[in-house]
Amino acid sequence: MSEKYALALHGGAGPKAGEDYTIVEAHLAELASMGEELLKSGESALDVVEIMVSNLESSGLYVAGKGSAPNVAGQVELDASIMEGHTRQAGSVSAIQDVKNPVGVAKAVLENSPCVMITGEGANKFADEQGFEAVSDPKNYYVLPVGVTQADIEQYEMMHGTVGAVALDGQGNLAAATSTGGVFGKPAGRVGDTPIIGVGTWADQDIAISCTGTGEFFIRAGGALSVANGYKLAGDTLSKALWRMLDEVKRLGGDGGLIAVSKDGEIAMAYNSDGMKRASVSSGSDLISTTFAKSD
Ligand code: ASP
Repeated sequence: MSEKYALALHGGAGPKAGEDYTIVEAHLAELASMGEELLKSGESALDVVEIMVSNLESSGLYVAGKGSAPNVAGQVELDASIMEGHTRQAGSVSAIQDVKNPVGVAKAVLENSPCVMITGEGANKFADEQGFEAVSDPKNYYVLPVGVTQADIEQYEMMHGTVGAVALDGQGNLAAATSTGGVFGKPAGRVGDTPIIGVGTWADQDIAISCTGTGEFFIRAGGALSVANGYKLAGDTLSKALWRMLDEVKRLGGDGGLIAVSKDGEIAMAYNSDGMKRASVSSGSDLISTTFAKSD
């Protein structure tokens, strides 16, 4: 096993300037340091990204899991995906309702089904069969995440948020996971980039990526796989590969951000929104957790 490991987390690219995200930054730092210990102890990248994203979902601090809001039909529909680089195995769920940890269900799709993606009622049925805990009292379970008020939801169209993690483990394997409540006030059945393998999430032998932002633009810009192709095929640096796709998102009229880790343990995080809640740590660098400072 190599001594090299790397982990990056994001809590979404929708923070508002002027808002206090101290609690969020502390939470991300705590998780990153837990993830670092897990990687040091030999845990796989796949398990670590799932554990990280499950914790982010359960915290209620972000627009994912407990921090999600209902669509216009009054239902909370969630999207999540996970991918392992060296096997290219992937799993995803979309428009799944009232499941506490959608990323866990996505991982069950990867491990226990021949499918990559299961959606809607079928995803709920699968989660049930796999024994996942459902939210028994949706009215009281969901909370507004840090920095989001009811007035914001009414004022800003397409207000959104997501959580994600990318990791390199001691075996040299990469993995990525992403989970979201999507966009506030979305129509029933709306699916963004998050559960689409190759758009919101991607991992292969060389790179792992998790995106956040207005999903429609990430889908149209080519998303995570185009970053991987820029990095591997066009010879872009990691940072250049992220910015090439992000600039396309901007050109199309969207904003957001993404995090990536390479097989060499290099981490890159970029955003063109006001900020992106994020944290990272690796065998080669200290833990950082921040929201607004410019891209790393
Ligand atoms: N990408 C997510 C979506 O469009 C939202 C976000 O990342 O903030 O559903």
